[in-house]
Amino acid sequence: MKFGGSCLIDKNAFKKILEITSIYKDIKKVYVVSALNGITDLLLKTANNLETDKEIDKNIALIEKKHLNIIGQIFTEDSEHYLKAKDWIDKNLSELEDTCADIKEFGLEPYYKDYIMSFGEILSTYILNQYLLSNGLDSLFFSTNKLIITNDEFNNAYPLYDLTNARTKRLLLPLLENPNKDIIICLTGFIGRNKIGYITTLGRGGSDYTASIIARSLYDVGNDKCIKVTLWKDVDGLLAINPKYVPHSFLIKNLDYDEAKHIANFGAKILHPKCLEAIEKHKIPLEIRNFNTPLEKNYTEISERSDKNYIKGISAVEFATIITIISGSMVDVPGVLAKIFKVMSKNNISVSLVAQSSSEISTSFIISEEDYEKAITALKSSKYFLEFFEIKWEHVAVINITGLKILETKTKAEIFNALDKKNIKIKAISQSYDELNLSLVIEREKLVDAINVIHDDLYEEFEGSK
Ligand code: ASP
Ligand code: MG
Repeated sequence: MKFGGSCLIDKNAFKKILEITSIYKDIKKVYVVSALNGITDLLLKTANNLETDKEIDKNIALIEKKHLNIIGQIFTEDSEHYLKAKDWIDKNLSELEDTCADIKEFGLEPYYKDYIMSFGEILSTYILNQYLLSNGLDSLFFSTNKLIITNDEFNNAYPLYDLTNARTKRLLLPLLENPNKDIIICLTGFIGRNKIGYITTLGRGGSDYTASIIARSLYDVGNDKCIKVTLWKDVDGLLAINPKYVPHSFLIKNLDYDEAKHIANFGAKILHPKCLEAIEKHKIPLEIRNFNTPLEKNYTEISERSDKNYIKGISAVEFATIITIISGSMVDVPGVLAKIFKVMSKNNISVSLVAQSSSEISTSFIISEEDYEKAITALKSSKYFLEFFEIKWEHVAVINITGLKILETKTKAEIFNALDKKNIKIKAISQSYDELNLSLVIEREKLVDAINVIHDDLYEEFEGSK
């Protein structure tokens, strides 16, 4: 189970964790914990503002205040657990201060950033562990830099599963498989370490990922294959449509890994898309549940099981730019696309949707609006493109409709009819061969209209409307 920052905001939230613990009392539990709300941002700010000692002191004092506030609420003052938590905070913040001094001296190397960001989870997880202990539960604090071994990509590290599995087998499994002990393991989310021993982090929002990495690893090395990941969030689950566009959208109760990846990629940041990759291999189910209503029957489950007869959701990219490259002379010339995408990749620009007419006269592709000036400048500074091509662009929006059902002709006809009714022009389309996702490029001003009209006209075909 992963508890995010919104599960640790005050005394009541901690009580909720006890409630959840008792609901799942007969099950072996591993808790993965995020930093307190806002702490990772504050740590990052500290690392990025080391010019004056005053600024460093101010930020560290704020981090300290937020943690002291929590332990003041959840423990009796000067009790054993309060004092342990307080010592831990003191010790770690003084380590943080020393690290800031090092960075001032040696510069902000990438590994320093990860090390600094790791303090959030180190503090919050220890506090939760002490809280569980203070309530008579058997619990153990365990930092994942002993467990998750990653590659060297600081800030966005990827787990090396063989090495992680070996650690899980040696360090975690014996604790869980001990029949005489019912112990909760509290693991720090978000952090790992590389082979040399430097702390790495898994990317922002990465605690979800930690939970699924650990689940996968336990599946790989343990005897008990009955494993489930539950992410406790401040929402009921994944919604078919971001409430920003359609206020009372449906909850998606059931979806499979591929569908979830489409939704998570474009969705409202409820789920970290990478965590699906970790659990998909063994088809480990993942639930997204509302922390405030742990017994609620409606929640999202991502598993092998999915009802293919429904549309699952619509997501949108609001700020996109479509670039179109046109030439009559390049028909049937191999390598034109490679050249275009090489320019994008050299400039670190990610291309999402691609559409090319089979005549090969024009190629359109979507990039984030943030990157469009860089992209145009790069294309125009290439003699090749300037000589043989016309380059056009327009700011647009992209909607993605996900679910196997959209492969049906009738459903697609209904989608196009709905859009036509509102006079919404589709500027480009993409649907690949076995895809369960249809992406439509439309005028940006029509985005909300487009989503609403598909939602209203195809209402009964959404899973959640059942
Ligand atoms: N604390 C990290 C972040 O804010 C990881 C997480 O919350 O999942 O990005
Ligand atoms: Mg967070």
